[in-house]
Amino acid sequence: MGPDGRPDAAAAGADDLAWVALGGNVGDSHAVMRGALAALAELGEVVARSSLYRTAPVGGPAGQADYLNAVVALRTGLSTHGLLRALQDVEERFGRVRGERWGPRTLDLDLLAHGAVNVDDPVATVPHPRLHHRAFVLVPLREIDPWWRHPVTGETAEGMLARLDASGVERTELAW
Ligand code: ADP
Ligand code: MG
Repeated sequence: MGPDGRPDAAAAGADDLAWVALGGNVGDSHAVMRGALAALAELGEVVARSSLYRTAPVGGPAGQADYLNAVVALRTGLSTHGLLRALQDVEERFGRVRGERWGPRTLDLDLLAHGAVNVDDPVATVPHPRLHHRAFVLVPLREIDPWWRHPVTGETAEGMLARLDASGVERTELAW
């Protein structure tokens, strides 16, 4: 159901997977990614996780550190809006440098897609509106599901990647 009480255009069924992108480049990003995975495992069953990728920052201020990025597939009973709120809670928990009240955000969690859900309201846009522009999302997504298709456009991760420069996205051997 949407925030106004109307049903979502397409609600997620019990078997539909949520696809979550993780990213961070402030502090000990490796530790943050591991902590975030443990937190996601409390929201449902993690059925797949990509490798950890080191990626060159795209845009933003000069001199930023490289990012770590990954994608996780989650089977959860939460609604799309409930899941997005839960992801924001996790961002808050991990996202602040200890001791600094409004410290830099160290963790970004994006809900890429949730089954066939197609919502666009003031708090949630799912599928994520920028996922098809982001090689750092599509490369790990393709790793865990080469047949993944965008729920609205039907395009494969591979097809979307063909239009992008993925040279800045490097798989690491870092352990989860
Ligand atoms: P980006 O999504 O491009 O990484 P931000 O993390 O700054 O940028 O997100 C901007 C806002 O978008 C967040 O405050 C969040 O509440 C909202 N939002 C809406 N839909 C989504 C979604 N599918 N995944 C993550 N955030 C979303
Ligand atoms: Mg985000």
